[in-house]
Amino acid sequence: MNEIVRNDVNTAVESASLDPQDWSAFRALAHRMLDETIDSIANVRERPVWQPIPDRVRAEFRADVPRAAAELGDVYREFSENIAPYATGNVHPGFMGWVHGGGTAVGMVAEMLAAGLNANLGGRDHMPIEVERQIVEWMRQLFGFPQGASGILVTGTSMANLMAVLVARSSALGTLARQHGIGNDGALLTAYTSKAAHGCISRAMDIAGLGTDALRRIDIDADHRIDVAALRAQIAIDREVGFKPFLVVASAGTVDIGAIDDLEALAALCREEQIWFHVDGAFGALAVLSDELAPLLAGIELADSIALDFHKWGQVPYDAGFLLVRDGERHRQAFAQPAAYLRREARGLAAGSHWPCDFGPDLSRGFRALKTWFTLKTFGTERLGAAIARTCALAKYLEARVVAEPKLELLAPVNLNIVCFRYRADDADGINGEIVADIQESGIAAPSSTTLDGKLAIRAAIVNHRTDASDIDALVSAVLEFGARRSGDGVVEIAAPPLAAQ
Ligand SMILES: *Cc1c(COP(=O)(O)O)cnc(C)c1O
Repeated sequence: MNEIVRNDVNTAVESASLDPQDWSAFRALAHRMLDETIDSIANVRERPVWQPIPDRVRAEFRADVPRAAAELGDVYREFSENIAPYATGNVHPGFMGWVHGGGTAVGMVAEMLAAGLNANLGGRDHMPIEVERQIVEWMRQLFGFPQGASGILVTGTSMANLMAVLVARSSALGTLARQHGIGNDGALLTAYTSKAAHGCISRAMDIAGLGTDALRRIDIDADHRIDVAALRAQIAIDREVGFKPFLVVASAGTVDIGAIDDLEALAALCREEQIWFHVDGAFGALAVLSDELAPLLAGIELADSIALDFHKWGQVPYDAGFLLVRDGERHRQAFAQPAAYLRREARGLAAGSHWPCDFGPDLSRGFRALKTWFTLKTFGTERLGAAIARTCALAKYLEARVVAEPKLELLAPVNLNIVCFRYRADDADGINGEIVADIQESGIAAPSSTTLDGKLAIRAAIVNHRTDASDIDALVSAVLEFGARRSGDGVVEIAAPPLAAQ
């Protein structure tokens, strides 16, 4: 029954609260949702990695706006039947497409707890902000940044890279440019990255108003690392004709093959040239958690800023990107804005300046920090680092299997956790594209594809902590089988695994 409230003038106002009318029924259903979600993670291997969405299901999501209320149980049934089975599949150990994290059950419950608090992390003085500050401090320590460094959780590395471009832009032009626009000086700014860098760097230049032409894409060597001599030469040419080089973006883990630029050489060059040195460490930066892999990142501690994703190798559920900036004051000067309704006080809820909204474009922000904090605390950096190192060991195992199969060809060196290879055939590009789609539709595994030196490659990025040697074997068998079918090679003998994964 709805509660009826009478006010002084005797008009009736029905309660508009959206809380459950029957808390015990809600509780029972909510517990069932939690149990079923846990079951779906625990038993993920029983399902296909991915399956195509049936037309019937897609059509259900072309309905009109729901004006009337519905039973929560009915809405949940729709979720169970029509949404959950047709998700991306990155929770599954057979998912190796793109660079997707697997998430954890711990992260899932933390997300639920965060939703219960419904905290707004734009600002004000409350403990959730301290949780985020704790993450910033942990990252500062892990990456060897000085006191006074700042950081902020964001959607993902695309956003973190964009914000780094904006901080570097304000740093180069001075904060008055935030008022007057980038002007003539801004039109002369040039940035540098490698040809293997992620596409979001170029988008960041576009969105920052500097234009994609102002991004110089420098050649890479055979290992996909930026050619530092070519970079140096390009900077000199640009200076000579009057441009103002202001930013170098290094890759710590290229999206194609996981290559890590020579960060020490780039740091030295940037210091010499007085250029902002940003590292796109979307997935690779968290290799810092593994003692075995951390040396690959030597020089990252010299960066002016680092972008990374907790939702990839960090296994935090989506989304959880992060930006770390060496000079917190410069970071703040790129975004902070006075506003009367955001007045800071010495005490009360409006205390505790600076606030996260001073360090990025968002005012209202969710509690991404909680699932990140739970993940880091519960597993500790050692276990997370071990899970990361293991994905690299599995990539080495896949590399060995590819090299041992006469029908397979390795297309790039295996640096970290990404293996690019293909089935040998006459129309190799066409056939390998079909093989990738065949395997995805089979539900056995989900690799993706990329193009390397004009060749279409099957790309297996092993990011998920659940992935095992048996999943690698299943992928190899599937490539051989679909490859044989597609190219009419007939029955193919599948070689036994040459070595066991660590
Ligand atoms: C994934 C990735 C990005 C983009 O990160 P999002 O979190 O998807 O926005 C940028 N750079 C590299 C190297 C990546 O792997």
